[in-house]
Amino acid sequence: MEFDLSRVLDALPAMVWIALPDGQLELINRRWSEYTGLSLDEARGSEWQTAAYPDDLPALLERWRSILASGQSGEMDARVRRFDGQYRRVRVQCSPMLDDAGRIIKWCGTVTDVEDFRRAEEVLRRRELDFQLIVDSIPLPVAVTAPSGEVEGLNQLTLDYFGKTFEELKGWKTSDVVHPDDLERTIAEQLAAHQGDHAYNVESRHRRADGVYRWYNVLGLPLRDQQGNILRWLHLLIDIDDRRRAEAALQAANDRLARASQVASLVELSASIAHEVNQPIAAALANAQAALRWLRRDPPDLAEVREALDDVVKDGTRAGNVIDRIRSLFKNAPPSLENLDITDALSEIVALSRGKALKNGVFLQVQLSEGLPTVRGDRVQLQQVMLNLITNAIEAMSDVDDGNRNLRITAGRDDDNVFVSVQDSGPGLTQVTLERVFEPFYTTKPTGLGVGLSICRSIIEAHKGGLWATNAAKGGAVFSFTVPITSATSSKGVRDPVMPSQAPQPLADITS
Ligand code: ADP
Repeated sequence: MEFDLSRVLDALPAMVWIALPDGQLELINRRWSEYTGLSLDEARGSEWQTAAYPDDLPALLERWRSILASGQSGEMDARVRRFDGQYRRVRVQCSPMLDDAGRIIKWCGTVTDVEDFRRAEEVLRRRELDFQLIVDSIPLPVAVTAPSGEVEGLNQLTLDYFGKTFEELKGWKTSDVVHPDDLERTIAEQLAAHQGDHAYNVESRHRRADGVYRWYNVLGLPLRDQQGNILRWLHLLIDIDDRRRAEAALQAANDRLARASQVASLVELSASIAHEVNQPIAAALANAQAALRWLRRDPPDLAEVREALDDVVKDGTRAGNVIDRIRSLFKNAPPSLENLDITDALSEIVALSRGKALKNGVFLQVQLSEGLPTVRGDRVQLQQVMLNLITNAIEAMSDVDDGNRNLRITAGRDDDNVFVSVQDSGPGLTQVTLERVFEPFYTTKPTGLGVGLSICRSIIEAHKGGLWATNAAKGGAVFSFTVPITSATSSKGVRDPVMPSQAPQPLADITS
């Protein structure tokens, strides 16, 4: 069956050419002619070279010559002018046609327009590059994973933070890069996000190159194509360690503040007591003044005096009742008991008092025995007692010379009790004060109420403990209280309070 060669070539769905053994172009098919806009006559021989991009021509000819010389199939890349004047990249592939003796009689070739393909390739490469650039320029550790979860990319910051190689970090799920306590949770959150097709946000600790775990907020974002399919996951690691520390500090400060305001209620209580007892005291004063006036009469009107004094007694009793009511509040209302570490409760009060001590030029010395047993007690009430004793001590030293204001707070164990003792270097207690110091309304201060110690004693008695005042050998007052230790209360029942029998044996010494 004979075919017209040019018909066959024109029918082929490709751009085809045929050249002589020396490389001179002999034939082109219709597609190739239409593509370049050159007729066979315009392309024949070396004329086709007019369609090549001038800058590419030397390299193209060089390549063509080497293929001819090799006698082997070959490929060439070049830019060629299309019929519309646009230069486009093409790939030329050719192979020799041999006669029976193996001599080359023709060169047959195809030309493929690869411009669109190359452009797409370039766009893709540029995108890759852009993506990498973006990932690298994010000022956070960033990881990129495939939808399967496999790690595909990590930026330099990630490698630097962990001090590990890409390969090592690929196996993060089985290494120590995530804190063991957070690992399971982190993996679960990621898995749930991958399955649920949504972003995730997990807080976990990540091990820095120096072995320190820092808190991170890991934000996982799915990157989708236009159809919404997830192509990749971007995981941003945001350092929240400082924030978490600040939060913890804030929480601690809040707790202290809450405690401080509970403790401050003693002050508020005193204010409301003042308000309540003011009335009967004012009335007593008025009646006493009236009695004096009746007495000054000549002759004195004793009947009126007696009546006024009766009223004074009644007013006094009323004032006394107010304070009795408050004391009974502490006695009868059972304190909200908990197993309490006295040194812990005391440390908080000491921390609260440091500012006041500093302001008043008081040198504060704290000696707490280590490992004290717990007591059953109401933390806030016992702290109110501590605060009251410390405040009194600081106030008592206001007239003492600067440099001689020493406040010593001691806590220790004495038999079945834990004791707390507050010693100052003030003027100490006179004989009268020693006898009356716990009486309601006993005060030697011009603006004092004289109820603080009375309430303190009620609180301590409600705890089955004791509160005492003495003078220290070297001067100054010592106020001490005891509270039975937990096991003593439960195993031996209620004991009579006893005074601490020996001087505290300080072990831990925290001196400010
Ligand atoms: P207030 O402080 O309002 O006077 P308190 O009941 O707390 O009420 O104290 C009663 C009195 O006990 C004080 O007025 C003071 O005379 C005496 N007092 C308390 N603590 C000390 C101390 N550390 N040194 C000397 N006197 C003290």
